[in-house]
Amino acid sequence: IIQIRNVSKWFGSHQVLTNINLNVQAGQKVVVLGPSGSGKSTLIRCINRLEEFQEGEIVVDGHRLKEHGQLEVVRREVGMVFQQFNLFPHMTVLRNVMLAPMKLRGLSEKAAEQRAMTLLNRVGIAEQAHKHASELSGGQQQRVAIARALAMEPRIMLFDEPTSALDPEMVGEVLDVMRSLAGSGMTMLVVTHEMGFAREVADRVIFMDRGQLLEDAPPAEFFGNPRLDRLKQFLNRVS
Ligand code: ATP
Ligand code: MG
Repeated sequence: IIQIRNVSKWFGSHQVLTNINLNVQAGQKVVVLGPSGSGKSTLIRCINRLEEFQEGEIVVDGHRLKEHGQLEVVRREVGMVFQQFNLFPHMTVLRNVMLAPMKLRGLSEKAAEQRAMTLLNRVGIAEQAHKHASELSGGQQQRVAIARALAMEPRIMLFDEPTSALDPEMVGEVLDVMRSLAGSGMTMLVVTHEMGFAREVADRVIFMDRGQLLEDAPPAEFFGNPRLDRLKQFLNRVS
């Protein structure tokens, strides 16, 4: 469902992605690991064109990203959750989830509300629907952000360190929602430092370093029998 072919990207003269190749099948969960500055965020941001890339090609669900007119299609099919939740703080939780489907998909107020309530239920926040987003804890806000992304009915969900800004006691509730989403068959690409999640949920784990994709393996092999020295060093540091 995602094909990344020979993608390279520079910021000015600084190369941040070097010849990246990655295929993700529908329903697969891929966890992206790597040191700070290795290009993890840049790579997943290229998938929904939050970033441009200079070389290579990305095809999402049959749509070539660089082709004219494909941007809107891709933005609809690909949901994204960031480290910072980016909710509208003075809007209610419900409104936050209703907004995009009404604006971008032309859903009626009533249909959007129904869909939002279903999703808030699914992420365990239904009782908080009428509070302002700013009144919620970080973990609750991140669950709302996931519901908001799902409200567009994406086929692919990208997560960029969704638990890194949370207090430790709230990490679990967000990972639980992500686990359940994984169980529902969603295609997911997840940048995270949560090794437990990677071991348990990922079909494949990829390792990035200095803009290169150096390893791509099932978790048992990735963690149990790492081949590359740089990956071994990285795993020793983080675990
Ligand atoms: P982290 O784990 O810290 O989030 P990362 O693996 O996500 O790191 P990226 O944010 O993708 O890394 O950054 C890759 C490289 O690109 C870094 O060297 C970074 O300084 C550089 N970079 C990222 N965004 C920009 C930008 N807007 N302009 C210039 N350089 C950038
Ligand atoms: Mg990053």
